[in-house]
Amino acid sequence: MNSVVIGSGFGGIAAALRLRAKNHKVTLVEKHPDLGGRARVFKKNGFTFDAGPTVITAPYLIYELFKLFNKKPEDYIKISSLDTWYRFVFEDGYKFDYSGNENSMKNQIEKISKDDFDGYQKLVKFTKKIFDKGFVELSDVPFDKSFFMIKQLPALLKLRSYNSVYSLVSSFIKNEKLRRIFSMHPLLVGGNPFTTTSIYGLILYLEKKWGIHYSIGGTGQIINALEKLMLEEDIKIIKGCEVINIITNKNKIQAVKLANEKELQADNVICNADPPAIYNELLKEIKSNLLFTWKKKRMDYSMGLFVYYFGTKKIYNDVEHHTIKFGDKYKKHLDDIFEKKKLNKDISFYLHRPTATDKSMAPEGHDCFYVLVPVPNNQSKIDWSIEGDKMKTLVINKMENSLLPNLKENIVEDFYLTPDYFEKELNTKHGSGFSIQPKFSQSAYFRFHNKSEICDGLYLVGAGTHPGAGIPGVLSSAKILDKIF
Ligand SMILES: Cc1cc2nc3c(=O)[nH]c(=O)nc-3n(C[C@H](O)[C@H](O)[C@H](O)COP(=O)(O)OP(=O)(O)OC[C@H]3O[C@@H](n4cnc5c(N)ncnc54)[C@H](O)[C@@H]3O)c2cc1C
Repeated sequence: MNSVVIGSGFGGIAAALRLRAKNHKVTLVEKHPDLGGRARVFKKNGFTFDAGPTVITAPYLIYELFKLFNKKPEDYIKISSLDTWYRFVFEDGYKFDYSGNENSMKNQIEKISKDDFDGYQKLVKFTKKIFDKGFVELSDVPFDKSFFMIKQLPALLKLRSYNSVYSLVSSFIKNEKLRRIFSMHPLLVGGNPFTTTSIYGLILYLEKKWGIHYSIGGTGQIINALEKLMLEEDIKIIKGCEVINIITNKNKIQAVKLANEKELQADNVICNADPPAIYNELLKEIKSNLLFTWKKKRMDYSMGLFVYYFGTKKIYNDVEHHTIKFGDKYKKHLDDIFEKKKLNKDISFYLHRPTATDKSMAPEGHDCFYVLVPVPNNQSKIDWSIEGDKMKTLVINKMENSLLPNLKENIVEDFYLTPDYFEKELNTKHGSGFSIQPKFSQSAYFRFHNKSEICDGLYLVGAGTHPGAGIPGVLSSAKILDKIF
């Protein structure tokens, strides 16, 4: 079997390896000169900036890829667990260090809300039930039959999937700050906690089960290790070449056409590109039926991301590896981003400081960071060539006043990405950070199927397919191929 994989995000790489383990002849084609997609790495003057994913959860899904070929993951990568998972910081200066240490959790919860520790424990138990169903049972099975989806509905309703994650958490926890903390997980996969189905509450339990990890040398080291593994296993990698067309005959895959006019014959094409780009740009020859056209049109997209990468000549020792800072008008900020598609100055953000764990990410005596701000996706029509610099100034001021004193005078290296990068460089519809939103009406059967709805021999992996965004999600999407082939 000749299989061509388009795109080298975590999903594409995992798909290439899984099919190679099934003895397919595999070629992986990537538009950019480097692999990783959202998990690419930018190196500048001794600083190593992981572009995207920094929080490694469910590391066994990464280890599995090495074990497919009887290789030892520890010969390729070093993944270590973090003690403090996230530090949450509020506008009034209140801090909460979230971790797997139950004593510390109990002390901190009881300090702010006497009654809420019991509710927290009940919440964890409830999210275990969601995890058992949504992750253990359903994350790596194909959802391409409507009756399979219908069969799941009673259990999903029992798990209150009609509620949002925020409502679910609020039914167990009274304190508003704690509600925000324990319901923030949808933001990690592109959803608004106030509207995302409570099924995504499973991420809370997934973190508890396996912890939060860091890959020494950065997430990019995992991509490097997987590239090495692919080459060792005779997967052909074509970099710096965009696929411009998927060629079909009577709705069946024939070949892919590259930007350099070459064609690669294929029995199967596994597409890791954003599903709307596949169906609207690469597969123009196939006419979709009315239902599929409607499905494509009705989709809501995740938020956009403004990511500011910077290195400092000062070391900020008291800043944790992962910090989440909530703005005062958190809910309004999210409403503005997701619904009204407008910018709001009262931003909430995530601050990454890999040098808290790994000094090799910056030159000696320096610190390395990125700050990620959820912003509207490009449906907003925001002109980022004007708003980008304004957002950078806002972000620096906010950080200087809260977490990083005297920041301005200590920055020695910086650059930023806006939704334009996601749209133009990563071919993502509306420049969304995480493809389509994780809503109930866009989950499982209602998401883009892993086995294409309209084309034989076309398979989809990555954030826009089942089960969804995040490294565990896209690695599971590739695992589904094991059940299809
Ligand atoms: C800033 C940021 C932070 C994040 N943080 C975390 C985190 O901490 N933990 C976590 O688990 N997840 C995180 N995520 C989410 C996670 O990174 C993504 O969901 C996941 O990496 C997406 O992988 P993917 O397989 O969908 O492919 P992508 O990474 O989207 O890659 C797709 C690839 O396809 C290529 N491509 C597209 N079209 C073509 C074409 N026509 N021809 C050739 N190549 C093409 C693109 O160039 C790209 O390389 C984060 C995401 C972002 C953006």
